[in-house]
Amino acid sequence: MKSREFGVLMSRQDYENYVLFPRRPYVGTRRSAIIIAFCAILGLVGSLTLSVAFSSTGSRASSGSGSSTISYTTTQWTLTHAITATPQRQPTSGTTTPVLSNSSSTSPITPFPTLLWQEIAALQAQNRFLYYGNQSIPEVALTFDDGPNPYYTQQVLAVLQQYGIKATFFCIGRQVAQYPSLVKQEYAAGNVIGNHTWSHANLTQLSSDTILTQINTTSDAIQQAIGVRPTFFRPPYGVINTNVLTQANQLGLTTIVWNDEARDWTTPGISVISSRILGLAGNGAIILLHDGGGNRSQTVAALPTIITSLQQQGYTFVTLPQMVHDLPQHPASNIAPTSMSIPTSVVY
Ligand code: ZN
Repeated sequence: MKSREFGVLMSRQDYENYVLFPRRPYVGTRRSAIIIAFCAILGLVGSLTLSVAFSSTGSRASSGSGSSTISYTTTQWTLTHAITATPQRQPTSGTTTPVLSNSSSTSPITPFPTLLWQEIAALQAQNRFLYYGNQSIPEVALTFDDGPNPYYTQQVLAVLQQYGIKATFFCIGRQVAQYPSLVKQEYAAGNVIGNHTWSHANLTQLSSDTILTQINTTSDAIQQAIGVRPTFFRPPYGVINTNVLTQANQLGLTTIVWNDEARDWTTPGISVISSRILGLAGNGAIILLHDGGGNRSQTVAALPTIITSLQQQGYTFVTLPQMVHDLPQHPASNIAPTSMSIPTSVVY
């Protein structure tokens, strides 16, 4: 299943013209951000109402379709049921041991809800769906998507090494298959490797089986490269639906979105990238940047300013396993709308 588009004989220009963001990227991402933000709000309400759904049915919620997709039609449901919500804590499984390595796995949540907001809430209750980390701790997580990349990944690694910090790389499976040595370098340097699907597909447009294949083939490639299977997963464009979360849960993956980004893929300029990241940074920030998918020279050049500025402000750079470890054990009841950062809330 080698990708011809990413073949080594491909010209740099062709490579950089490769469309990871196929159509209307800005609008698509903004829409994704709106969807994510909306889902987060639903997830919040869900955290309050989930126990009702469980207790009233004994297992799964009785309403809704198991194949629902991201939609705004759940608002009425939410408003209706939120009124009767009892703020009971979602029961958690006994597996609350912090995940601190690539090789750790998490058991699926069973029974898993069938509505999106319930799924988000159930995952958040076990720290398995994150927009950000602990907002009481001055730590941030750098994440790099869409690699490994033959031009920029090593440049990013060099900067990280220069400042003695670790990051998390969400790799595209076919890139991993093409450049396994780069993933080995990432891992050997103490960074964490996450799953970003095989072909950077919009998973919400795929069947459950295809979603499973997208994720599993990527995990296979990563395991082949570094010897361990990833436990962190980031859906391309940050878009999710019930099928995506169901598969992620079934595979024991922790789904990571973000709350601090610069849209570095639009190559807005080095200073713009750093100022956007610094402007959105805060305790527990999950920072999204890219080491693949196009010309990332601006991203690489912006990194030293981002790193040194945040360090001067007292932030520590951590990998995602550490960030998850530092979260409260039962976070859902602590999440409030006022503390939620919307991934792409800034209008440029
Ligand atoms: Zn991506």
